[in-house]
Amino acid sequence: MKEKWFLTFPPELTEEPVTYTLIKNYDLRINILRASIGLNVTGNLLILIDGTPNAISEALTWLKTTGINVDSGDSQIIWNDELCVHCGACTAVCPAKALSLDPKTWLLSFSPEKCLACGHCIPACPLGAITNQKRRENV
Ligand code: SF4
Ligand code: SF4
Repeated sequence: MKEKWFLTFPPELTEEPVTYTLIKNYDLRINILRASIGLNVTGNLLILIDGTPNAISEALTWLKTTGINVDSGDSQIIWNDELCVHCGACTAVCPAKALSLDPKTWLLSFSPEKCLACGHCIPACPLGAITNQKRRENV
């Protein structure tokens, strides 16, 4: 059984050996798809996990006790450039620099290949120009 998880770490938990624990204690195979981790800042990790349904369920229960938030990583961010006024508000909350303003033109650009699908930019946009598809709340 495979699932994609999007983990959000509070700053005080970014040094926790989470992937090691998931592998060692729950016998999960883990593929890190994208990561944005730093000391003393909120961290994000997009992982593909493979294991038995029971192991995945137990691992999920453990993760929730740690204070690490787990959402389904099965989502895609959609930027509607026709609604966008290039104010830059979304760039301030993007941990992966997937949203950025061109320093010469001051126009927004979106790089889907960098996106962690964390969803932080969605409420940050005053015009509703950013949405997501297939997002499931809390796995
Ligand atoms: S969902 Fe939005 S804020 Fe999160 S990484 Fe993707 S573009 Fe950046
Ligand atoms: S916050 Fe919305 S309107 Fe502003 S640059 Fe980002 S997508 Fe465009």
